[in-house]
Amino acid sequence: MNNTEIQSRLISWYDRNKRPMPWRDCGDPYKIWLSEIMLQQTRVDQATPYFNRFIDHFPTVHDLAAADQQEVLKVWEGLGYYSRARNLHSAAKLVVDQFDGKVPDSWDEITELKGVGPYTASAVLSIAFQKKYAVVDGNVIRVLSRYYGIEENVRETKTKNSIQEYADELIPDERPGDFNQAVMELGATVCTPSNPECGECPLQPGCVAFKTVKTDQIPYKSKKKKRPHHHIGVGIIKQPGDDKVLIALRPDDAMLGGLWEFPGGKQEPGEELPETVKRELHEELGVEVSIVKPFMKLDHAYSHFKITMHAYLCELQSGTPRPQSSQEVRWISIEKLADVPFPKANRRLTEKLMNLNKGQQELEI
Ligand code: SF4
Repeated sequence: MNNTEIQSRLISWYDRNKRPMPWRDCGDPYKIWLSEIMLQQTRVDQATPYFNRFIDHFPTVHDLAAADQQEVLKVWEGLGYYSRARNLHSAAKLVVDQFDGKVPDSWDEITELKGVGPYTASAVLSIAFQKKYAVVDGNVIRVLSRYYGIEENVRETKTKNSIQEYADELIPDERPGDFNQAVMELGATVCTPSNPECGECPLQPGCVAFKTVKTDQIPYKSKKKKRPHHHIGVGIIKQPGDDKVLIALRPDDAMLGGLWEFPGGKQEPGEELPETVKRELHEELGVEVSIVKPFMKLDHAYSHFKITMHAYLCELQSGTPRPQSSQEVRWISIEKLADVPFPKANRRLTEKLMNLNKGQQELEI
């Protein structure tokens, strides 16, 4: 098939088969930009409720720019990769301050926005402004590597670059945004990682992987490195007879920056977990604590490592907690824990604390 035939087959398939999405065909560059940020590392079905909630809170870029960062992180809570929310928030301020509240429609300007790299720039410029930039995400890599029979390792930059070149060649002058969405949609719904539905595919007549029966070998990906596993000791400091616990605000430039947590850190070799908690709380807050009892153990996976979190109820023995490695520390009543943003693993601790507190069980120390 020549490029014109590929383009027209894909676009007419897309017109018949595209799934409704709240940002699709809305014509609002702010919503399209937000959707592209949310869809990084997140599936459509997971992102959609967050998108709706975010737009309810911040219907325009002006609303987002005027919001407090804690409010933005609270609405984003649960979606993960929080630097996306922090970057989006500071980019919204730039859009309002420097671009008159309009999402920029040129490559040079839109890539000035924090969190907007080549992929997001291409997606927003093509979908919101009909500019001819081809996007290459995981779905596009799968469709094009199968269609052209590219057998090289798609984790390597040079393979990704050559797929980008194919995509750049293919993108049409008319409806470039719909073309990009068509390839991504085909990858998400028909040319799926396993058991692609080649019988339903508009590209089947020219597809090399289909003809050579290699759909289960292409795209080829080298094995991922095993993720390291850390044990984390965490202290929930609660004063006897008080309903307040101590939380710390992570630095903005750290992983999970701008979110709250119970202080703690990594277990060192040869160290017992209660000792980890005491050492970490001394280093992070400048206080001495005693361990009252284990509170909860939970597993959590991040993109590059896994943790087992061991949380202990603690009692303050001496010192006044000060933020030595966080932005701020705060005593907060347990019922108010729902009001501030926490990352997922810490949120599980707050939920248990709030449940026990409601039933007035086991929390007295
Ligand atoms: Fe993917 Fe099959 Fe279509 Fe080829 S024919 S692009 S393998 S769905």
